[in-house]
Amino acid sequence: MHLWGPKMREQRQPFIADPVGACDTFRQEQMLEVLNQMEQGIVVWDSDQNCLMFNERIFVVLEISPTDLFVGMKREMFLDKAVQWGVITAGSKEEAQARFQTGQPFSFDRSLPSGKVISSFARPLGQGGYVVTFTDVTQFRKDAADLAVAKKAAEKAETKALKMLAKEQAWREEAKLLGDLDEWLQSCKSLAELFEVVTQFMTKLLPDTAGELYLYSNSRDVLDGACVWGGGEVQEHIAPDSCWALRRGRGYRYEAGGIGLQCSHVKDHPRQREVEHTLCVPIVAHGDTVGLMHVVYPENASDAEVRQGYEFALQCGEHISLAIANVKLRDELHDQSTRDALTRLYNRRYFLEAMRTEASMAARKRSDFSLLSFDADKFKSFNDNHGHDAGDMVLRAIADKMHEMFSDGATPCRFGGEEFSVLLPNVTGAEAYDVAEELRRAVEEIKIRYGSGELPPVTISIGVASFSDHGPLLQDIINAADRALYQAKKDGRNCVRAADAEAQ
Ligand code: GH3
Ligand code: MG
Ligand code: MG
Repeated sequence: MHLWGPKMREQRQPFIADPVGACDTFRQEQMLEVLNQMEQGIVVWDSDQNCLMFNERIFVVLEISPTDLFVGMKREMFLDKAVQWGVITAGSKEEAQARFQTGQPFSFDRSLPSGKVISSFARPLGQGGYVVTFTDVTQFRKDAADLAVAKKAAEKAETKALKMLAKEQAWREEAKLLGDLDEWLQSCKSLAELFEVVTQFMTKLLPDTAGELYLYSNSRDVLDGACVWGGGEVQEHIAPDSCWALRRGRGYRYEAGGIGLQCSHVKDHPRQREVEHTLCVPIVAHGDTVGLMHVVYPENASDAEVRQGYEFALQCGEHISLAIANVKLRDELHDQSTRDALTRLYNRRYFLEAMRTEASMAARKRSDFSLLSFDADKFKSFNDNHGHDAGDMVLRAIADKMHEMFSDGATPCRFGGEEFSVLLPNVTGAEAYDVAEELRRAVEEIKIRYGSGELPPVTISIGVASFSDHGPLLQDIINAADRALYQAKKDGRNCVRAADAEAQ
């Protein structure tokens, strides 16, 4: 076997086998120069798996010494060395050998012990040999990895920014809706108006949820259903201790399968539907619990959605609480200035105002209205015989009867002491007489339990006057009714007298 290049033999290893000595020395030297200039290491295996040639670069690329490869070296031996260096495993050596047998091109990446990454590419030669190139792709792979990492980071940052933007947008919308809700709630003049606003806004503020609002009754022993949204079904009454939020004095989130207990007002709800996530928020205003907001989340709601919705629902509850407190306060103040504390009937001031309004309307519309004026009979002696407390019970019982009879349009009033009046719009004197007679009989039949027994019946004497017969001046109508009342007393009490038109 001739080993090509005498100059090279002296200075370094020979690189090309020239078994027949036919090489054109000059051309081969030139070719070697070119191969050595390349970035890649190159080795050529003949069909018998012997090393046919290689270039110098291969030592640098594979970090091996010039004694590790020589012309005529068996490929098996070279691969064994690679296993020893830790560049490939015994398994991948077998795999490589098998792939050399296929006569097909193939490629693979290897990491050298130094951390360098080498990409190897094996191409078949015509006579069953292979030329294998080794390229140092460390930087390239690193750059690609860095690029991938940078791309991932950029994507993550973008997703985060979009999420934050969406959150900010949602927050702005929520804040705007809450602002609008506040504005509407502040302008509500009655609880009925307020409930309407709550229904409308909660449908928008907590979409996909169903909800119910309850308010404590005046007696505070139950909560009355007030309004609903999103297909919620309000119950007429619920007991305060049927709700864990009311019992614990703070918002309560229930999750099916969680560790908490379900409120019995939810469990026993007539809708008889399984609910997975629910929220109860006590409606607290000025330190006083005035009601309960109950929210039912859709079955497919995620935990995060419910948690997020929970915070927002608490906020909504706070806004509603304050508005309810304001309306209630306004109602109370209005009540205090217009109603009598013992009987809850209208007071004299309100009554006279109502009469003035009615008189101007009746004059304009040429309609009628009538006035009943009545006084309890022999009440001084009733108090003397049974005590002032019993007397108060009688006054309340008479007032209850008046509330019952005059709920629609009429204005029942306690004028003072045991004297009462009723304003009856659109009622003539003759019709009013019948109403008075009905009232007299109803009072006569009132039965009041007191102590271990029953109080004796109390009667009333009634005077009737009307706008068309005794007006148009209010004082004339009132005087006429008083005169009729005096006549009723004179005629033996427990009777009704119409004012005499002539007597004006
Ligand atoms: P009559 O009207 O039939 O002529 O006899 P009377 O005894 O009812 O006489 P009068 O109307 O003048 O008496 C009013 C009495 O009503 C005086 C007072 O003892 C009683 N009274 C007035 N206000 C109250 C009240 O708020 N509670 C109680 N228990 N009694 C009252
Ligand atoms: Mg009197
Ligand atoms: Mg009296």
